[in-house]
Amino acid sequence: MYLKRRLGKSLTTLRGLHFGYKKKRKSSHRYKVTVGIGGNIGDVKRRFEHLFNCLKKEKRVELLQTSLILKNPPFGFANQDDFFNSIIVLQISMQPMQFLGYLMRLEKRFARKRSFANAPRTLDLDIIFFDKRVVKSEKLTIPHASWSSRESVLIPLSELKQ
Ligand code: AMP
Repeated sequence: MYLKRRLGKSLTTLRGLHFGYKKKRKSSHRYKVTVGIGGNIGDVKRRFEHLFNCLKKEKRVELLQTSLILKNPPFGFANQDDFFNSIIVLQISMQPMQFLGYLMRLEKRFARKRSFANAPRTLDLDIIFFDKRVVKSEKLTIPHASWSSRESVLIPLSELKQ
């Protein structure tokens, strides 16, 4: 079901039907956003597939592209399972705060439990880019504060189909 490729000792990419996906038609929605997705509890790949289907059904969202899935070791709190990460590119008709609210509701729906920083998680959704906007508020930083220092973001980003 997934085509695996070892990138190094601890990194593997997985290509599937919905990850490594690119849509041909352009969208009528206004803003192009890049979302980082991740998780390391239970069947994360299955959860990603479920998320893909949820996004496809949402009227305010058009799914343009997904990267491969990257399996990579945890950072921060190391005594936990490897993470799976991917990037989803969407065209949306929501403003940044409204979109953050939408993503947080999705995280809740996938039963994310917040315990401590860098703790294991079922589904983490981060706004990496929102068009060319810069946002610096208490609740939201765009571009995402640590996107350029995380392998879990940089590798999937670099694997997006041109
Ligand atoms: P975490 O679950 O550790 O990624 O943190 C989630 C919190 O980070 C949310 O409650 C947001 O208010 C805040 N946040 C700030 N910037 C962003 C962003 N670009 N994408 C997602 N959450 C963000």
